[in-house]
Amino acid sequence: MKVLVINCGSSSLKYQLIDSETEIALAVGICERIGQDVSVLKHTPNGGEKVVKETSMKNHEVAIQMVLDALTDADHGVIKSLDEIGAVGHRVVHGGEKFAVSSIITDEVIKAIEDCNDLAPLHNPANLIGIRACANLMKGVPMVAVFDTAFHQTMPPKSYLYGLPFDYYDEYKIRKYGFHGTSHSFVSKRMAEFAGLDLENSKIIVCHLGNGASISAVLNGKSIDTSMGFTPLSGLVMGTRSGDIDPSIIEFISKKQNKSLDEIMNLLNKGSGIQGMSEVSSDFRDINEAMDNGNEKARLAFDVFVYRVAKFIGGYVAAMNGVDAIAFTAGVGENDHKVRAEVCEYLGYLGVNIDLDKNMTRGKEVMLTTPDSKVKVAIVPTNEELAIARETVALL
Ligand code: ADP
Repeated sequence: MKVLVINCGSSSLKYQLIDSETEIALAVGICERIGQDVSVLKHTPNGGEKVVKETSMKNHEVAIQMVLDALTDADHGVIKSLDEIGAVGHRVVHGGEKFAVSSIITDEVIKAIEDCNDLAPLHNPANLIGIRACANLMKGVPMVAVFDTAFHQTMPPKSYLYGLPFDYYDEYKIRKYGFHGTSHSFVSKRMAEFAGLDLENSKIIVCHLGNGASISAVLNGKSIDTSMGFTPLSGLVMGTRSGDIDPSIIEFISKKQNKSLDEIMNLLNKGSGIQGMSEVSSDFRDINEAMDNGNEKARLAFDVFVYRVAKFIGGYVAAMNGVDAIAFTAGVGENDHKVRAEVCEYLGYLGVNIDLDKNMTRGKEVMLTTPDSKVKVAIVPTNEELAIARETVALL
């Protein structure tokens, strides 16, 4: 079956058409600046040249129509007719406590996703726009919602409850949800296979280190803890997000600089983390270059990042009473050998021993540890779109 995977943001829409039998992405692309005067469609057929079209996409429905036109185009299309698309898989950011697994989209499911809008006001409404636009343009084609939060719904209360009065959980469902669940699920399963472990009897830590970054503890195939929380702001230091800070800092900054809550939240989400600390960039390629040129703030930002990752790993080893395997994934985890090497330096006490030559690998699945290492450490590239396509086919 050919599955169209849609990841719809407020002004962008990423897509892939995946052949579920071969698991090949027949085409990948993105629509950017939807709703603005000039929007852009970038479409790359498998094995072909990227096509870039500047046009106006006044809303997501227009954008999806353009995607469907690109997929069936005589020159750069990859299917003859839309009838070849057997299903659509939608990434949905927040499923709250309602969705512990993916769901076939029905009117009730749309309503339940809407009920979670409160928990992800920037993301869920955009995801719903994509769902509705596809429903209008592809009548009768089954659709599945795959939630970022679902994999972490197996966390026990002791890891998801905050130290707040219980009423806040009861009344408003304030708790840890965790994100990047599709990636943590995909990578932990693959890590078990790759390391020759029985997933049902394994202790795996997944380090999803991208621009947004999170770590999870996966015990016997189930997430029991993760570093992101009520929102994706908490846990690790990220590209532009602060990660965990003392909440009192918010009040302190507000008083010192007469800033509103909105301004401070914007600062914590978009102007902090690696970018804010280094004053160079949120991108680890720039940080590495700056470090090579002796930039001390870049080095410090890097050190803070690595130290935080190592501390979360330590915490999750305690939570699972041990660890069999640690996986590095996403943009930084798959590509930055220095991050991996320095994180692993902190893990000597676990008997982690990595081969520094193998660690120079980029973006490919590879076991990094030497045969005598007590814990296996590997690069396991994530593929959230393929995971969504698999879920979609499995459900249908
Ligand atoms: P997200 O999906 O959260 O936007 P990605 O997983 O795509 O992020 O990761 C993007 C990040 O990966 C970039 O910001 C950059 O820091 C990092 N990255 C990509 N390539 C490299 C590389 N060759 N070396 C170091 N870091 C890299």
